[in-house]
Amino acid sequence: MPVALAVVAPVLSVPVAELKPVRVSRAGRECPVCASAPCSSPLDCAAEFSAHVWVACADCAGTGWDSTGMAIWCRVCGGSKIVEG
Ligand SMILES: [Zn+2]
Ligand SMILES: [Zn+2]
Repeated sequence: MPVALAVVAPVLSVPVAELKPVRVSRAGRECPVCASAPCSSPLDCAAEFSAHVWVACADCAGTGWDSTGMAIWCRVCGGSKIVEG
């Protein structure tokens, strides 16, 4: 499809070296409510967050880091450090 190619081409023309820092900075910790990074709806999640009880994630001991070394963020809490308690 010509339309799709026209959209993809400009993105691929950007050097990978320029994309990398952007990718890293956006790969942040997940929102504990919607499990998205960045949060898909900060206002809704803030309200939802206050309506639940949260405890430190047992899998990463509340650090948010993946303990297996296979990923950046904890696979249970997504780096948010907390899970619904
Ligand atoms: Zn959220
Ligand atoms: Zn965790």
